[in-house]
Formats: sequence, C-alpha cells, structure tokens
Amino acid sequence: MNKIIYRQILAVLCFFVFVLPAQALNLDGNFVQGGLIIGKADQATSVFFQGKSLRVSARGIFIIGFDRDAPLQAVLKLKYANGKLKHHKITITKRTYNTQQINGLPPEKVEPKSANILKRIRKEAAIVKKARQLDAPRTDFNQGFIWPVIGEITGVYGSQRVLNGKPRRPHYGIDISAPTGMPVKSPADGVVTLVHPDMFFSGGTLIIDHGHGLSSCFLHLHKHLVKQGQKVKQGQVVAQVGATGRVTGAHLDWRMNWFDKRIDPALLVPPMPNSKSQIPNPK
Ligand SMILES: [Zn+2]
Repeated sequence: MNKIIYRQILAVLCFFVFVLPAQALNLDGNFVQGGLIIGKADQATSVFFQGKSLRVSARGIFIIGFDRDAPLQAVLKLKYANGKLKHHKITITKRTYNTQQINGLPPEKVEPKSANILKRIRKEAAIVKKARQLDAPRTDFNQGFIWPVIGEITGVYGSQRVLNGKPRRPHYGIDISAPTGMPVKSPADGVVTLVHPDMFFSGGTLIIDHGHGLSSCFLHLHKHLVKQGQKVKQGQVVAQVGATGRVTGAHLDWRMNWFDKRIDPALLVPPMPNSKSQIPNPK
C-alpha cells in the first residue's frame, strides 16, 4: 500500500518537473544606476521593461540597462505562451556622482556659437543616435567585457562636469589616460556600426554593437583600424588612442549605451590592473 502511494507521489512530482514548463527567471548584473542586467526567462514569449518590449533570444536571453538617473523602482513584465502574465518589481540603488572641473579647453569647444558649428553638432548627434538605436539579434554581451586600454583612470561615469567654469552635461564615459597611438581593443565581439574621422566634440569616433541595443563608443581616436559593417572579436585592435575633439590631452573615452540609456562600462569589467585611481564603489 505504502509503495503505491509513494509511486503516485513520485508520478505527480515527475509531472511537475518534466511535463510542466519551468518558468524560471534569472536576472544577473548590477541593480544600480548605470548598471546592466542580463536576464534569462525560460518559456517567456515576450518581456517588457517599463512598458518597452525587449528583444528576447531563442534561449530566453534579454538585457536591461539603467540610466545615470534611472528611477529607483521599475517593473519587468513577462508574458508566457499560455497567456499568463507575471510582474516583477525591480529595485535600483541610487548612486552619488562627483563633480569634475576641467579648465584650459578651447572656448569654442565649450561654447560653440557659429551657426555652422551648431548645425554640424546636431548632424553628428543624429548619426550617433541612429547607430545606438540598432536592436540586433547578436548576443555578444553574454561573453563578458575586457578593458579596451590599460591605463590610469582620469574620468568616471556620471560625474557632473564644469568646463572652463561653466556647468555642462554629465560625463557618461570612463576616461583612460594613454598616449596617442596606443592600440584600442574591442571589449567584446561585435559589429562596427559607426566610423567617423572627426566629430566636433568626440573627434575620431567608433561605435561597436554588441547586440540587443548594447553598444560601445570610443571617443577622441587618432586612427580607426576597422570599417563600418566589419565584425570584430573581443581583444581585436580596432583603433588608436588620440587627442581629437574636445580634450586637454590624449586619452580614451569609453562609453556604453543600451539604446539611449547610458551604462557605466566600469561595472562590466574587472578592476583596472596596476592603476592608482580605482573606480569609486557605485554603492
Ligand atoms: Zn571623457
């Protein structure tokens, strides 16, 4: 008798484990402003974040990025094949950002006035914005990221900028001091989506797409070594550090975007080797 009950229980358990689809949700990453989350939702047919429909790979992979000043509460909505909806509340930790004063910039780079220059700035911003809108099925972000250049960190994500004494937009990248000509490596696999020899603010500019709206942008480059549309591998040399655009000296400014949301690259790589200046703890 007991044996029969045991078998029945086992059969019921097997039914739940093997027959009913598991609706497991895994979210991995930094739940802080500027953070990136890689999600895996088994069996979900669609995923929405703050009402926005996200690309979900065949294996159920999706990503979410939190902006510099992202709201501290957000909702993730998962839809399953059987029509069921699940809501997950997400809590994001607030960060504090420092203020960075930079002096000695050419005045026309801080307060451009000529109509031609303003037109050029708008045109260049539109090109960059378009490249960042790409929502490609590649999942290169899944392999992790490496530093594109090793050097001293001279500027961090999110800092409030005061240029020549004038408050300006926050800094969204991480500045790594390095001499002109130093090789810049691709932080992950990807596709080159933008190559520009000289933008007004960012100088020689390169964008690499890592899939699902996540892209790396490199600023102030001396030279590009890849072409638009080219596939690149993690660690491949794609450019050379320079001092083009609005700079006081040679360095690499590495930015990451999830569409129009600014992501902190420093959260995606190990600590900078042999650097005196470390990233302040984001929490
Ligand atoms: Zn910078």
